Amino acid sequence: MPSIEKIVIAGAGQAGGRAAEALRSAGFRGSITMIGEEKHPPYERPQLSKELLATLDAPVAYLKPASDWTGVLDVTMITGAAVVACDAERQTVATGDGEIFGYDRLLLATGTQPRRIKTLEGAGVENQERLLARAFPGLVSEVVEARHRNHGVRFEFGVTVAAGTTNGVRLTNGAELKADIVLVGIGVEPTDAIARDLGLSADAGIEVDAFGRTAAPNVFSAGDVALQWSKCHDRAIRVETWANAQNQAICVAGNMAGGNREYDDPPWFWSDQYDLNIQVVGDMLNADHVVRGDCQSDRFSVAAMRGNEIVGAISINAAKDMAMFRRLVARQSRLNRSDIESTAYDLRQALKTN
Ligand SMILES: Cc1cc2nc3c(=O)[nH]c(=O)nc-3n(C[C@H](O)[C@H](O)[C@H](O)COP(=O)(O)OP(=O)(O)OC[C@H]3O[C@@H](n4cnc5c(N)ncnc54)[C@H](O)[C@@H]3O)c2cc1C
Repeated sequence: MPSIEKIVIAGAGQAGGRAAEALRSAGFRGSITMIGEEKHPPYERPQLSKELLATLDAPVAYLKPASDWTGVLDVTMITGAAVVACDAERQTVATGDGEIFGYDRLLLATGTQPRRIKTLEGAGVENQERLLARAFPGLVSEVVEARHRNHGVRFEFGVTVAAGTTNGVRLTNGAELKADIVLVGIGVEPTDAIARDLGLSADAGIEVDAFGRTAAPNVFSAGDVALQWSKCHDRAIRVETWANAQNQAICVAGNMAGGNREYDDPPWFWSDQYDLNIQVVGDMLNADHVVRGDCQSDRFSVAAMRGNEIVGAISINAAKDMAMFRRLVARQSRLNRSDIESTAYDLRQALKTN
């Protein structure tokens, strides 16, 4: 195998940053150039919708102090510059200001960007029939919705926004909502334009195998932009989570440096809404739901079962259950539904037999 001397990382977000760190941890001594469109060094985004909304002067969760990237990790960090073109044959990338960088290995870690709309037409107040329908079973949606309503949030389900008005929005059912500020939260799209230069079809994200390799020679991808196979979903998905951005990037970086490890962590994420800590692992849809605990209370879990196989779980203020469920889902464990339902049953027992 030709020696690997130059690694370029396109995207200086969480996946890009964790990959650079992991390359050094794996013993890679060649050059690492990380190119990021934002002017900031890598930081964690979850606090943008949490701590930073509550306290604007909360410290920013940078992955590392800025000086460590060059001083400790010997990474050439280029911020405020986008990669605008890639050449698969020459193995080069070009930035908007015309700089060209050669690579032996390239990581595409360009993440996602908010879906944009020219007008408000088509934007959902919520065009689904319930809250969080894409990831949660109905009984959990109800618990979360009730919590929001208790805090004065009003919902309009099953309608979309027809138009913006001078002082709010008009809905497709004719209702007008007054608002000083309209927040559009209609999801994200993969930032995959440069992948097309490499001959990669990237409509739903950049397709990778379990090692993080794309179909282009010596080009890898990780994080939100990567379209990867999910065992529990039984299909390829993009995983837009903090844990995936970190753990997939670490695994793929090891492979870029010559390693050979498959990444197959089931998707896992958390959300904090009021006093509800909600954690989800695996696939909660297209499955039967088995409740553990009292779903009228503030603390319970729901397991998603296909036959006897656990393919997902969600926990509300039940982090200990979730720690077990994450391991059980990763192992594609087979469980008795009555065991899950019984809070007297210690889920650690299931780990011993799976
Ligand atoms: C507000 C918010 C709250 C979140 N809360 C949670 C949470 O509670 N729990 C959870 O699990 N996950 C959460 N997430 C998701 C999590 O932050 C993402 O999954 C994670 O940031 C993905 O990392 P990434 O590196 O793949 O992509 P990103 O963090 O999007 O980083 C990609 C970087 O690449 C740059 N880039 C794009 N194109 C180019 C280019 N051509 N050239 C150079 N640079 C480029 C971008 O500017 C960006 O800086 C949240 C995300 C947001 C936005």
